[in-house]
Amino acid sequence: MDKLIALCKRRGFIFPGSEIYGGFANSYTYGPYGVELRNNIKKLWWDKFVHQRDDIVGMDGPIIIHPRVWVASGHAEGFNDALVECKNCHKRFRADHLVEAATGQDLEGQIEEMKRLLDAGIDCPSCQKRDWTDVKRFNMMFTTKLNTTEEEAESIAYLRPETAGAIFIEFKNILDSSRVKLPFGIAQIGKAFRNEIVAGNFIFRLREFEQMEIEYFIRPDANWEDLFEQWLQLQEEFAHELGAKPDDLRRFEHPKEKLAFYSRKTVDIEYRFPFGGFKELFGLAHRGDYDLQNHSRASGVPLEYYDSENNERFMPHILEPTFGLDRAILLCLLAAHSEEGTDEDAGGRTVMRFPKRLAPVKIAIFPLLKNKPVLVARAREIFDLLKRHHVCEFDDNGNVGKRYRRQDEIGTPYCVTIDFQSLDDQTVTVRDRDSMSQQRVAIDGLLEFFNSQLL
Ligand code: ATP
Repeated sequence: MDKLIALCKRRGFIFPGSEIYGGFANSYTYGPYGVELRNNIKKLWWDKFVHQRDDIVGMDGPIIIHPRVWVASGHAEGFNDALVECKNCHKRFRADHLVEAATGQDLEGQIEEMKRLLDAGIDCPSCQKRDWTDVKRFNMMFTTKLNTTEEEAESIAYLRPETAGAIFIEFKNILDSSRVKLPFGIAQIGKAFRNEIVAGNFIFRLREFEQMEIEYFIRPDANWEDLFEQWLQLQEEFAHELGAKPDDLRRFEHPKEKLAFYSRKTVDIEYRFPFGGFKELFGLAHRGDYDLQNHSRASGVPLEYYDSENNERFMPHILEPTFGLDRAILLCLLAAHSEEGTDEDAGGRTVMRFPKRLAPVKIAIFPLLKNKPVLVARAREIFDLLKRHHVCEFDDNGNVGKRYRRQDEIGTPYCVTIDFQSLDDQTVTVRDRDSMSQQRVAIDGLLEFFNSQLL
C-alpha cells in the first residue's frame, strides 16, 4: 500500500488533498493520470450498464435536492454512526468498530451496550488508556445553509449522502418521458458526501466520493431471486474487468436478522484489500417498495407504474446495485501494481498492468534522439496522427530505456520509437508493455494496428 501511495503521488495519479496547507484529512486530488483512469472507469461502467443495455437509462441529478427527500428516506433521522472519544488523547473512533474488533460482536444501534463493553475492557487504540466519553449518535450527512442574508429564515439543506435519492424522485419524470417498461433501471454517476468519523486507508473511505448506482425496478411478483443473482454476477464481472482476480473477491450476505425491515436480501461484494482483508467494494440490496412508498407518502404524488397490457397500477420493487467509484479505482490500482526485480539496471521495473482500455495513456511516442530534428519532426507527425484517435504522450527526455520505465510506471500499453531506420523504410518500433517484445510496424498501418490492439 505504501509503495502504491508513493507511486500515485510521484507519477500524478492521486495527491493528498490541500497539501500546501498542511493537508486536509480524507480528501484527495486525482492528478493528470488519475483523472484519465477515473474517467475510463466511469466510461466502462456507463457503457456496460447503460449503452449496452436496452433496459437501463441514465440521468444526472443535483447534489443538493429538497431537504424533505432525506426526511422521507429516513436519512435525516437515522443515518448515524456511533461516535466515542478518548478523554485522554481526544481521538475519535467508531464505537461499533472498536467493539467489533475486540469482541467480534456487531452491536449496530445498541449505544448503551457499546459503552458498557468499552468501559469494561477496551483500551484506546491510540494511547492505550481507558477513559471513554459516552457513545453518541453522529449524523453523517453534511448540512449547508440555503439563503444568504441574516434576515432570511435559515434553512438547512443536505449534501446528498448517496446518489439514489435523486433517482427515486425522478421516477415519474422518467416514466412519463421515456418508453421504459418493467423491468427497467435508472443509472447515475455522481458525488456523494458523508461525514465519516474515522477515515483513512487512502481513497477507501472518503468524505467526498463518487458512486455509480442503478435503481432497477421490477414487478412485485417478479422472480427477484434470479434477477438478484444476475446482478451479483454482473457486479463481479465488472470487478474482473477492473483487474480483480477471482480469489480476491467474495460475497458477504447480510444475516437476515440484521437486514433493514424492507429488504429481502442484501449482499456486499468484497475485495481483499491489503489493509485488514476483505472489505466492501460494491453492494446489492433488494429494497422492496420502501423508497417509492415513502416518497409517494411524503410528496403526495403517487409513484406508481401503470401496466397497460394488464390494466393494473402498482408500485414496483427495487433492486439496487451500487458501485463505489473510488473503491473501484483503488482496486484497479492495486491489481495493476507489480514490481519485477529490484535492480533497474538489470531490467527491474515497476509496471502498472492496467487493462488496456483503462490505461490513462495508450501510446507513448519517442524520437530516438531529441537533438536530431528530422527524427523529432517525424515523431511529431506520428504523434499528431495517433492522438486524434487514442490518448498519446510525446516523450523525448532521457534514453529510450528510461522512457520505457516511465511509461511502465503509468501503465502505457505501447511505446513507439522513431529511429533512423524509420526515415529509410517508413517503419517504427512498437514495444509492448507486458511482454516487452518489440516489433517493426509500417507507419501507414500504425493507426489500424492500434485500433485493433486497443479495442
Ligand atoms: P461501509 O460499510 O464501508 O461504510 P456502506 O455500507 O456505508 O460502506 P453503502 O452505503 O452501501 O456503503 O454505499 C455504496 C458504495 O459506496 C459502497 O459499496 C462503497 O463502494 C461506496 N462508499 C461508501 N462509503 C464510502 C466512503 N466513505 N468513501 C468511498 N466510498 C464509499
